[in-house]
Amino acid sequence: MPNPPSTVPDNRLSETLLRDEIRALHAYHVPDSAGMIKLDAMENPYSLPAELSDEIAAATRELALNRYPDPAARVLTDQLRTSEAIPASAEILLGNGSDELIQMIAMALARPGAVLLAPEPSFVMYSMIATFTAMRYIGVPLTETFDLDVERMLAAIEAHRPAVIFLAYPNNPTGNLFSPESVRAILDAAPGLVVLDEAYHPFAQHTFMAELECRPNLLVMRTLSKMGLAGLRLGYLAGAAHWLGAFDKVRLPYNINVFTQMAASIVLRHSEVLEAQAEAIRAERSRLTAALNGMPSVKTYPSQANFILLRVADAPATHEKLRAGGVLVKNLHRAHASLDHCLRVTVGTPQENDRFLAVFSSAIA
Ligand SMILES: *Cc1c(COP(=O)(O)O)cnc(C)c1O
Repeated sequence: MPNPPSTVPDNRLSETLLRDEIRALHAYHVPDSAGMIKLDAMENPYSLPAELSDEIAAATRELALNRYPDPAARVLTDQLRTSEAIPASAEILLGNGSDELIQMIAMALARPGAVLLAPEPSFVMYSMIATFTAMRYIGVPLTETFDLDVERMLAAIEAHRPAVIFLAYPNNPTGNLFSPESVRAILDAAPGLVVLDEAYHPFAQHTFMAELECRPNLLVMRTLSKMGLAGLRLGYLAGAAHWLGAFDKVRLPYNINVFTQMAASIVLRHSEVLEAQAEAIRAERSRLTAALNGMPSVKTYPSQANFILLRVADAPATHEKLRAGGVLVKNLHRAHASLDHCLRVTVGTPQENDRFLAVFSSAIA
């Protein structure tokens, strides 16, 4: 029998049923970028060489789309172990992007009152996922140079006993690597897990991967997104088996689809392609930074990532003029107290960067 028509209007029903903290959230906004030079999302600007695309196209024809994927993605996992130099003692867990791994970690740890702690400003998904999973989020301000404020971090660790601490290394949106001694001080003090989020590893070439061997509560997380495969959605987590085995229980079966498993596996067999692209991006990062430093009233922050944080006189106006000139960057003004009049620009191809510099210099004139 069909339900009788409800007398409660839909919006009233959603107000009563939705969790308060979810109603209070703003949906993650992705601006329309059609026809724009897209320097807002840390994507690699280069596509794959034709031979690699052809190889993926040929393999796509052979895919059994009627079958579920290998739930453990064994071929890909074994390949990552070698290509990413993951210590033999560590397990590997794959996610549909590293965002999904952050979510799995939080879901598994979200006992009532459990705390997820991160420095601020940092990657927004840490606090968002804490909210989704009803964890208590604690943000600890970075220093003026955007390094870890060890004293404040240690005090917050002592006061809140976090189940997990996320450190983005290099940090997004500031671009810098935290000093390794500060990271170690936090690793030493943490009563729970510490996740080193190395999403920008190809551009920084500094890692805590080797320390997995001696630090049982360290996890290292990486993604293929920023190195050229954002569309595939593949992240991985490396760490002790007893942790990863627990997170694996909250993983939805088949989270890595057959196309992603196949395409990532082919590209990783030619990892020199992505490495050459990362090298070109690192070189352009230096050129872009030098050009910006030569402009009046622009302050750049040192970056080990594939983007540059900069401060201008009027970020909203500059952002709008760039948009009108066909260049999309991220406006961080109001995103955090320490980011007043900041913009974040992803390093593009030399042509894209030239176009950005031309529009930008007239925008700030
Ligand atoms: C972009 C980014 C991620 C998310 O990457 P996906 O694998 O695409 O989900 C994770 N951490 C940081 C710090 C990032 O900037």
